[in-house]
Amino acid sequence: MDSDSSLLEDSSTPSPSPSPSPSSSSGFDRDRHVRFLEMMYQLLPFQYQTQEINHLTLAYFVISGLELLGAMDRVDKDKIANWVLSFQALPTIKAENPTGEFYGFCGSRSSQFPPGENGDLIHNGSHLASTYCALAILKVIGYDFSNIDSESIAISMRNLQQSDGSFVPIHIGAEADLRFIYCAAAICYMLENWSGMDKQKTKTYILNCQSYDGGFGLTPGSESHGGGTYCAIASLRLMGFIEDDLLSRDNPSSIINVPLLLEWCLQKQAADGGFQGRPNKPADTCYAFWIGSTLRILGGLDFIDKKALKAFLLTCQSKYGGFSKFPMDFPDLYHSYYGFTAFSLLEEPDINSLFVELGITDVSAWRI
Ligand SMILES: [Zn+2]
Repeated sequence: MDSDSSLLEDSSTPSPSPSPSPSSSSGFDRDRHVRFLEMMYQLLPFQYQTQEINHLTLAYFVISGLELLGAMDRVDKDKIANWVLSFQALPTIKAENPTGEFYGFCGSRSSQFPPGENGDLIHNGSHLASTYCALAILKVIGYDFSNIDSESIAISMRNLQQSDGSFVPIHIGAEADLRFIYCAAAICYMLENWSGMDKQKTKTYILNCQSYDGGFGLTPGSESHGGGTYCAIASLRLMGFIEDDLLSRDNPSSIINVPLLLEWCLQKQAADGGFQGRPNKPADTCYAFWIGSTLRILGGLDFIDKKALKAFLLTCQSKYGGFSKFPMDFPDLYHSYYGFTAFSLLEEPDINSLFVELGITDVSAWRI
């Protein structure tokens, strides 16, 4: 892993083309999933070459996936820590950050040296999503966070927050929406340092994203979306603006419209048992996590048809391990990870419990 080997290297030979048929097993096939992730840890198939820029994100799916499945004995934690830390951008001058840069983690080797407008190499491609994934991996492997320069990350993160409260993910600018607010909130939470965020401004932006139908769009005024809704609710929870299990409280005083949100979430369970991200879209494995986690935070997970959801997810379980986006399709790392987390929400006995707000196991989230 020191030289980007194993998990992080792309193979030059095509992997065999398996049949996309679902697992012959009638239940969650933990052992096959462990083998699937172990294979990805050893060598990523060439199909992931185009996602090189998201290398840390792919690593998060593999390593946190193995932790969910209780198989961390398959990885070398010290090597992982060194590899993840090698992506961190550190300021040359400490404390205040006049350069306007963000000192977090780059997503991959190539993004450590992105070209600028005039072709010069900018030696800092730190990205909020990569930083979230890096810290999540470090949490999962039990890395001592006192060794991380959290002050530099937090202070420089201020450079990414916009006047409307949203965040751009990278200091050279990009689209700003709820995804990066979520990453920023998760980073602050894991670092136990909120100095990089104006929480009130952030809250205002999030609340402006709740649509007339109760769900949240990625930006104010945009269509409600399962991913955006998770980002909004998980962020508000991490920031301490909403309470856990709102629905079970006698007098829930909430800054969001909870009944409308609950109704929107429940309506996303499709006739085939799976969850759709938006109305009139086919059910997709990952929304079992995005919307299921939102319901868990609200305390409304028991209102869904769990049996039907499990049946849907099993049609997306590959006989080679992993999950696909749609039934009878090929598995990919993204949908595999959210398939595992969905089964954790369904309290599958072979999976560790999930800290849904951070997307890692409870044990990892609370580890000192
Ligand atoms: Zn999906």
